[in-house]
Amino acid sequence: MEKFRSPNYATIKMKKKMKENTQMKIFCCQEHVELGIDVFVDEEETFPSLNTVDNSSNLSTDCEYCQNKAAYIVSN
Ligand SMILES: [Zn+2]
Repeated sequence: MEKFRSPNYATIKMKKKMKENTQMKIFCCQEHVELGIDVFVDEEETFPSLNTVDNSSNLSTDCEYCQNKAAYIVSN
């Protein structure tokens, strides 16, 4: 029974695994791109790839942190 007495460890491990499987994507404007990267690095503990938002399409995505149009996508 001794083996099964640390459920916390199992939970943490599971959470971490779930996190790895989730793709994180942050849309941000020019002003908040650094903030977006900071948040990403904090959450994922790795550096993101930075892509520019294609504004030629009609899809206008707002920045996660303000009302401006997103200019960058921070993702893994
Ligand atoms: Zn913004």
